[in-house]
Amino acid sequence: NLAKLTANCLFCKIIRGQIPSKKLVETDLTFSFLDINPLSRGHSLIIPKYCGAKLADIPDEFLADAMPVAKKIAIATGATNYNILQNNGAEAHQEVMHVHFHVIPKPSEEEGLG
Ligand code: 5GP
Repeated sequence: NLAKLTANCLFCKIIRGQIPSKKLVETDLTFSFLDINPLSRGHSLIIPKYCGAKLADIPDEFLADAMPVAKKIAIATGATNYNILQNNGAEAHQEVMHVHFHVIPKPSEEEGLG
């Protein structure tokens, strides 16, 4: 396929298995795993197998693969409330410069952090 990974990117290393992660769903075009510092239980990240910092850098087919995966993960968490988030640029709170979609379950008040 058209995967494009780079040597020194943290998330490319996660895709290659050079850095361990709790893998969720892997397709030809995307990889998903649990966030190491979750905002709530089940907080997950979906990344294209294409290294680019911002949405505009990523070919459409990779992006098109990501939302069905987000849907699967959202269903699997059992959350009835959740946010899908994708930050572009440091001033928009992006820390890792490889595009990633967050799936963030929103626990009910009673559940606290979940
Ligand atoms: P950003 O702020 O760039 O949108 O989000 C980056 C996310 O990546 C953060 O939620 C952070 O916890 C997560 N993250 C950073 N480094 C690692 C790592 O090595 N492993 C995993 N699983 N998540 C990471």
